Amino acid sequence: APVDAAAYLEGLNDAQREAVMTTEGPVLMLAGAGTGKTRALTTRLAHILATRLAAPWQVLAVTFTNKAAREMKERIGHLVGDVVEGMQWLGTFHSIAAKILRIHAEVVDLKSSFTIIDTDDQVRLCKQVIEAAGLDEKRWSGRGLASFIDDWKNRGLTPDNVPKGEAHHFGNGKGIELYKAYQERLVTLNAADFGDLLVHNITIFQKHPDILAKYQDKFRYMLVDEYQDTNIAQYLWLRLLAQKNRNICVVGDDDQSIYGWRGAEVANILNFEKDFPGAKVIRLERNYRSTPAILAAASGLIEANRTRLGKTLWTDDESEHEKVKLRGVWDGEEEARTVTDDIESEQRKGRSLSDMAVLVRASFQMRSFEERFNTAGIAYQVVGGPRFYEREETRDALAYLRLTRNPEDDLSFLRIVNKPRRGMGDKAIQALTITARKQGVSLARAAQMLLETDEIKGKARTGLTQFLEGLMRWGEAAREARPDILTETILEESGYTEFWKSSKSPQAPSKLENLKELVNAAGEFDTLAGYLDHVSLVADINQDTSEGQVMLMTLHAAKGLEFPVVFLPGWEEEIFPSARSLDENGNEGLEEERRLAYVGITRARESCRISFAANRLVYGRWQNAMPSRFIDELPEKHVEVVSEPGLYGNAASELAAYSSFNDMAETNDTYDTPGWRRAKSARGRTGSAPMLEGRAELVATSSPGSTSFRVGSRVFHQKFGYGNVVAAEGNKLEVDFDHSGHKKVIDSFLEQA
Ligand code: ATP
Ligand code: MG
Repeated sequence: APVDAAAYLEGLNDAQREAVMTTEGPVLMLAGAGTGKTRALTTRLAHILATRLAAPWQVLAVTFTNKAAREMKERIGHLVGDVVEGMQWLGTFHSIAAKILRIHAEVVDLKSSFTIIDTDDQVRLCKQVIEAAGLDEKRWSGRGLASFIDDWKNRGLTPDNVPKGEAHHFGNGKGIELYKAYQERLVTLNAADFGDLLVHNITIFQKHPDILAKYQDKFRYMLVDEYQDTNIAQYLWLRLLAQKNRNICVVGDDDQSIYGWRGAEVANILNFEKDFPGAKVIRLERNYRSTPAILAAASGLIEANRTRLGKTLWTDDESEHEKVKLRGVWDGEEEARTVTDDIESEQRKGRSLSDMAVLVRASFQMRSFEERFNTAGIAYQVVGGPRFYEREETRDALAYLRLTRNPEDDLSFLRIVNKPRRGMGDKAIQALTITARKQGVSLARAAQMLLETDEIKGKARTGLTQFLEGLMRWGEAAREARPDILTETILEESGYTEFWKSSKSPQAPSKLENLKELVNAAGEFDTLAGYLDHVSLVADINQDTSEGQVMLMTLHAAKGLEFPVVFLPGWEEEIFPSARSLDENGNEGLEEERRLAYVGITRARESCRISFAANRLVYGRWQNAMPSRFIDELPEKHVEVVSEPGLYGNAASELAAYSSFNDMAETNDTYDTPGWRRAKSARGRTGSAPMLEGRAELVATSSPGSTSFRVGSRVFHQKFGYGNVVAAEGNKLEVDFDHSGHKKVIDSFLEQA
């Protein structure tokens, strides 16, 4: 019986309802942050299922992260019940494409058991290809080639389609040749990289119209969230699949396009109406997420971007609310401390830790927060990064599992054949590689062949024999055993666990903990294959969604999410906007950084707290930092400066005195160094060259890691006058000033008196 339609439509506004009910034909929902796009998309899916327009397995729904997919599934489950379990095609582009590729792998010369390799292996493979081509490896790096190949794949280009002119972009005109060799290596290894998943799909669809037709008929409805961040390959893939019945609904916000550096094309959203003539465009303007101050701050900031469609956002939230808070601090350590203090104070007021998030521009910024949280005993969760799966021990363990599943996976073989030590020196490895190449077989097979001869002797022979026996045994076991038990067994029998148990490394205990965690993770899957695919595909690994943890993640990972309280630290030039974006020609990089800032602010529902430090430790050197230009761009009316006077040395207390922080640079003595002044005036200009100039000077005036001022020296400071150095830590000094009291200063502000 049809479900009571009113039930799930309740609470939606008219535009959202329209997006839900217009099931036939192309629909573009174009709207700003927090306007209920994802909610409308989710309800639309529920509507399609509830009214039986399609069976669950006939709907293709693409989310940007696996986490978002899980959440969407959960919400649909609430709306329509168990039918949601049949949704096999709800996931990220990568996970869906991987599923399709496993079914038709043979079309692109792979077996359905193919391995999905990660960035590290990709780079290693690229290195091998460069070496084999006899190119100067100093000049042409594996990473460089990998990045060109990624770029081509993002654009949906196979070696045959890359424009000839682009051969010269890498390796003395050999670019395309190297790309081809790389693809051949992947086939030999029975492996695919991330970019391949979609490109292979496209190849399959183009080579076999019958296969394409099957999927075109299968997917009666297609829905895509975060469409502004699709790349060309993803776009081509969608267009192929949607061509026939055209029931495709995409939602996005051009102001939140933050993956340009990974090949995302905002143009995809702008061209949608052209590609799907007659598309219905639905705009949502009412924001349900944030307070008026947060919304106004975000809108004011994004107005500085020139390339945007422009949107109105409004809210009728008239409740009492705080302004966006801005705090200047002395250094990164103090920033972590004040954020932690704020978190504790919110907690005392009854707020749950999981209501709070710290969003950083770059993952290296996380460390100081992690350390502080640990000290303060605050539970936190790092969301988004594949950090856990990047760790050495995790990667080793996964290599064992991958090789168990796919004995042709030579990259995994090489990684672990001598880890723990099995007497396999360089010579033995070389013998293996040569045999494998000559015979055209995998390393595992070559090892078997060599053991039938006298090539390998002594310790290596025993070691290798045991290793191969293990692989065979584990391969057998993999058919039956639960993935967690299998994992544990493999790690035990291979001697890998023992390797860390007997290690004297101070990190060994935490490595063993991680291995345990890996076994736990495998336990959540029915098969080893399922687990390995999951590992290759998830960007957001940390599945621990338990209540009561502060969320720590990058701004990129925070897309689509919302939190009552959001901390945005490190708003300084060269951190945010990043140094790299400033080096670029033109404004594109900078505008993308600004969109990222917009994404950050609009994650907040009730409270948004931005901070910046006056000093940063960069590669062991203290540098003066400038507040981000984005701070200047926030509408003053909606911002409040909240540094506590006297607590954090001069910079912050002075700052608090100036309610108009825009003038801070000109008026605050602490920033009044020659480097600061020049950099500030450079910042006033546009274009990248002056920025570089300003930055070069900044570095020049910042001091080296150690200071020439000794404890006990008599010094003079422009603002604080005479004093004595009482302590020194690198070039950071504590001085007891005759008239200004105890202050922390950087030695470049001082003169010998
Ligand atoms: P983003 O651009 O950040 O992805 P979005 O447009 O997808 O945002 P949602 O996450 O769907 O926005 O919704 C933002 C918040 O507003 C959510 O808490 C959601 O539950 C709420 N919301 C959406 N629509 C309505 C509505 N009609 N009435 C009340 N609350 C709503
Ligand atoms: Mg959303």
